[in-house]
Amino acid sequence: MIIGAIETGGTKFVCGVGNEKGEILERVSFPTETPEITLAKVVEFFKDKNIERLGIGSFGPIDVNPNSKTYGYITKTPKLAWTDCDVVGYLKKYFDIPMFFDTDVNGAALGEATWGAAKGLSNCLYLTIGTGIGGGALVSGKLVHGMLHPEMGHILIKRHPEDNYEGKCPFHKDCLEGMASGPAIEGRWGVKGHELPVDHKAWDIEAYYLAQGLVNFILTLSPEKIILGGGVMKQSQLFPKIRAKVIELLKGYVQTKEILENIDDYIVYPELGDNAGLLGALALTLQ
Ligand code: ADP
Ligand code: ZN
Repeated sequence: MIIGAIETGGTKFVCGVGNEKGEILERVSFPTETPEITLAKVVEFFKDKNIERLGIGSFGPIDVNPNSKTYGYITKTPKLAWTDCDVVGYLKKYFDIPMFFDTDVNGAALGEATWGAAKGLSNCLYLTIGTGIGGGALVSGKLVHGMLHPEMGHILIKRHPEDNYEGKCPFHKDCLEGMASGPAIEGRWGVKGHELPVDHKAWDIEAYYLAQGLVNFILTLSPEKIILGGGVMKQSQLFPKIRAKVIELLKGYVQTKEILENIDDYIVYPELGDNAGLLGALALTLQ
């Protein structure tokens, strides 16, 4: 089967053609402009590819409820030109094929569970720590949706005792995203994350916040694997700090071998690399 995949991002769109084995045969990417310009480029790319299905992993918030009038829309986004944009409706005018629309992070969770770090598992969590923080979860083999879709970046957390940064989230200031996203690191220290030394105190504070997030997700979703991606996680010294903090904060309450014996293999980096977004969108079409 020839499958189309789209990763919509706030800065770039990636389109690809692949198959059910998770092979990407062709890909292009272009900057995200207005919907009119960008979606026209998407149509142009796919028009002679004979795709039989199309998966779309999108930045949000989006409407993923098939019974809703605005299913397939990007809804209330800070990227204003895209507010209330009917992405699926637009593409359906050109391609009369099944379309699968979900958050980029739900796609990433499913892609990793199909071909990557959580291969074969029915329960996993994918969290991206980049410009924002977002999470996608596979629970009992199904992606979590519900009333909207999870917005795991905006959970409330305890402040680090030595941190008086006000927080970067435009809605909540000091939620998880407000304290631990890439822009929050830059706001707190005055330089971008990649410019801070690996032994800077910033990374202990960062790990403290991310570990709190993970503890909450472990306690609510019970994932069998946690995958941490996004630009900030390129700081690989964060992994041992986060693992240690998770164990400390759980205080022995969750007695599983994943946490007590195998935490290095429980909280891990993504395995799908540069094609993660596209493979996530591809995986959405195979559910
Ligand atoms: P996006 O979230 O926009 O899709 P990224 O996941 O690359 O993109 O996240 C970008 C954010 O991650 C920026 O705030 C940037 O400063 C931060 N970032 C990117 N690379 C690194 C790095 N090596 N170390 C620390 N922070 C980084
Ligand atoms: Zn918030």
